[in-house]
Amino acid sequence: EAAPCAQLNHPDLWPVPGLELEAETHKHRRGRLTILSGPAGSGGAAQLAARAGLLGGAGFVTLALPSDAAPASDPLLVSRPLGQGDLAAHLSDTRADAAVIGPGAGLHDALKVRVAAALERRIPLVLDADALTVFADAPEALFAQLHPRCVLTPHAGEFARLFPGLAEGALNKIEAAREAARLAHAIIVYKGPDTVIAAPNGAVRVNVHASARLATAGTGDVLAGLTGAFLAQGAAPFEAACAAVWLHGDAGRRLGPGATAGDVLACLPQALAAERDRRAR
Ligand code: AMP
Ligand code: MG
Repeated sequence: EAAPCAQLNHPDLWPVPGLELEAETHKHRRGRLTILSGPAGSGGAAQLAARAGLLGGAGFVTLALPSDAAPASDPLLVSRPLGQGDLAAHLSDTRADAAVIGPGAGLHDALKVRVAAALERRIPLVLDADALTVFADAPEALFAQLHPRCVLTPHAGEFARLFPGLAEGALNKIEAAREAARLAHAIIVYKGPDTVIAAPNGAVRVNVHASARLATAGTGDVLAGLTGAFLAQGAAPFEAACAAVWLHGDAGRRLGPGATAGDVLACLPQALAAERDRRAR
């Protein structure tokens, strides 16, 4: 029998940081977010995540660039090379409030070390894409390092690689996500047409407010960046994930034929403004 599960909806929509601002705020108070980029040829997804971080209201978004990476061409993003101390030093130098690791990070051994370094700092983290796949050979090694401020955002393939025992079909998607959150000690955002958000304490929501137009390359990277933006602004991990999934789905519902992940970015301000207006009523 399916576990009871609340559908994610407006009435229980979580706090969305940045909908209203204090007049005296400044960029460093609005959340500093770091996105790890990857070697030349793989950083595009990181730039999508970084853009989403800015649109989600983080005041300062930094792309952390390995020495072999091409700098971002996007003038809105601040690129900083990873130096000797690599990602740990970078996060400390930029006083990052949160980080997103995985989109466009590149599948290589250094990534495991960088994920470990970021986890040691205990700041809120989104792990997605390559940062999940790089641990496919030893998921337990990843789980042992995770902490409750981590949000993992696997699509079905990434979920199956991390949780082979849960993906085999004996459990429905909601039960599988809930078990995965317990196993990993982290928030699990199990993506797809029906995205399930699950916490280690058993809290779970399912989101059906989305659109099949989101089934295109790069939309997951936008979700990772948006989640990172809410974490950087101080939202609790489960709430940040729920708000990001809802608003990403809402942006998706504004898309028409021919839309790409770039259009999801373009629709995010409308989704955020609609939510602000709804709350003001
Ligand atoms: P990724 O596979 O990492 O690029 O992520 C794809 C994003 O699009 C996730 O947020 C999914 O939940 C969403 N998505 C993919 N396919 C669909 C679909 N058929 N209906 C609604 N959302 C979808
Ligand atoms: Mg993805």
